[in-house]
Amino acid sequence: MSFLEYAPAPESRSILNLRDAYGLFIDGEFVDGSGETFATISPADETRIATISTASDADVARAVAAARHAYDKTWSKMSGRDRGKYLFRVARLVQERARELAVAESLDNGKPIKESRDVDVPLVAAWFFYYAGWADKLDYAGLGAGPRALGVAGQVIPWNFPLLMLAWKIAPALAAGNTVVIKPAETTSLSAMIFAEILQQADLPPGVVNIITGAGATGAALVSHPDVDKVAFTGSTGVGRAIAKQVAGSGKKLTLELGGKAANIVFDDAPIEQAIEGIVNGIFFNQGHVCCAGSRLLVQESIHDEVVDRLKTRLTTLRMGDPLDKNTDIGAINSREQLDRIRELSDIGEAEGAERWSAPCEIPDRGFWFAPTIFTNVQASHRIARDEIFGPVLSVLTFRTPAEAIEKANNTPYGLSAGIWSDKGSRILAVADKLRAGVVWANTFNRFDPASPFGGYKESGYGREGGRHGLLAYLKGASA
Ligand code: NAP
Ligand code: MG
Repeated sequence: MSFLEYAPAPESRSILNLRDAYGLFIDGEFVDGSGETFATISPADETRIATISTASDADVARAVAAARHAYDKTWSKMSGRDRGKYLFRVARLVQERARELAVAESLDNGKPIKESRDVDVPLVAAWFFYYAGWADKLDYAGLGAGPRALGVAGQVIPWNFPLLMLAWKIAPALAAGNTVVIKPAETTSLSAMIFAEILQQADLPPGVVNIITGAGATGAALVSHPDVDKVAFTGSTGVGRAIAKQVAGSGKKLTLELGGKAANIVFDDAPIEQAIEGIVNGIFFNQGHVCCAGSRLLVQESIHDEVVDRLKTRLTTLRMGDPLDKNTDIGAINSREQLDRIRELSDIGEAEGAERWSAPCEIPDRGFWFAPTIFTNVQASHRIARDEIFGPVLSVLTFRTPAEAIEKANNTPYGLSAGIWSDKGSRILAVADKLRAGVVWANTFNRFDPASPFGGYKESGYGREGGRHGLLAYLKGASA
C-alpha cells in the first residue's frame, strides 16, 4: 500500500511577543498578584509558556473596587455612542492581532490552529462588532423603556474557548454599560493577557475591564464579593450549582451556562455524506471540549451500520498532532486532569458493555492526547450516554420512529443543544419543536453567530448569551 504523507506545516510562533510572567490586569495596568504564581503550559508537549499570577481575596477586592470606580466615574456617564466606539476599536484590534491571538490560543489550549484561526478568533471580533452596534441602541432593542446597566459584573469562564468565552462575557456587558471583573480558567489565561494589552492599545478607560487570574478560589472570591451586581458563569454544572447557592438572596443577577449532552439525530432520509461531516464536526471539533457537542448520536436503526462504517472510515483520515500544524484536525486534550476524566468515563463505557472503537493514530510521547473514539451498542442507561465526557468520544444509540428519537433525545438532565438531519423540512420543524434544547441545528452542527441567542434548559443553565437576548442579562428594568 502506498499513500501520500503530509509535510509538516507548522504556523510560526515568531509572531508571539510573550512576556515571561504576567500580572493581574487591574485599573488599566498589569500589577503583581499577591497569591502564588503558577506556570501555564502547552498541553501538546507539557512545556512551560509563561508564569501567571494568582489573585488573592485582597486582589479581587482591588479589582472590584477599580470596576466600581470606573463605573461611577466614567463608564456610566459615557454615551452609548462613545461606549460603542471603544467596542469597535477592540474588535478591529482583535482583527489586527488575529494571527498572534490564534497562535497563543492553540499553544496554550491545545486546539488546532485551523480552528483558533478560522473559528475562535474571527468569532471574537464578530462578537465585539455585533455588541458595539447595540451600545447606542439599547432604547430601541425592544427590551423596555430606558433599560439601565446593572453596575459591576463578575464573570468566570472555562478553558475550552478561552478568548471566545471572554468575548461572550465582556462584549454585551460593556455594550449595556456595565464594568467588568473577569477570571479566565487556570489552564488558559494567556490569550486573556494579550487581550488586556489590546484594551490598553484601545485606550479603554482604566478599570472598565479588569482581568484577574488564578484558580477556583479566585473565582469563588469574585462571585461572592458583595460589591458585584451581576454574576455570569460558564463552566461545569457542579460549580454552577455551588455559585447559584452562594448568590441566592444576595440580590445579584445571575446567568449560568453549564454542561450538555446533546443528541445529534440522523434520520434515514438524511443527506448521508453531509451528515457524516456534521457528526464529525459535532463531536470532534475542539477535541469534543464543547458544551454543546453532539456527543450522543441517535441514528435511525435502518442506516445504523452504514453510518457507523462511514464514520470509522472518515475518522481514519483525521490527523491528530501538533496544534500549531495547519493540517492538524485533532489537537491535544487541554489538561492531564481532563484526559484522566475522558479515560475514566471511556473505561466505564467498556465495562458497562458498550463496544469501543478508536481511530488508529500515533499518540505523541509527550503531552495529553486521546484518539477519536466511537462507542456502539450504547444503552440509554450507560454512564457514557448520560454524563458529559467533554472529550472526543461519541456514543451511538439507535431509534426506530421520530417519537422514539424525541423521547431519547430529551432523556437527559441537560438541554443545551441538538441536531436534526433529514431531507424533510416538515419533519425537521416538527421534531425541533419537541426537543427541550436551547439551540437546535438542522442539517448542520456547531454553528455560532453573535446575532443568535445561545443557552440551555434544565441543568444546562439559565439565561441567554448572544443576540438581543444577550443584553437582557446585563440590564435593569428590561424584559424580552
Ligand atoms: P469548571 O471547573 O466549572 O470551571 C469553570 C470556571 O470556574 C474556571 O474558571 C474555574 O477556575 C472556575 N471555578 C472553579 N471552581 C469555582 C468556584 N467554586 N467558584 C467560582 N469559580 C470557580 O468547568 P471547566 O471544567 O473549566 O469547564 C468545562 C465545563 O464547562 C463543561 O461542563 C462544559 O460543558 C461547560 N461549558 C459550558 C458552556 C456553555 O456555554 N454552556 C461553554 C463552555 C463550557 P479554574 O479553571 O481555575 O478551576
Ligand atoms: Mg495552558
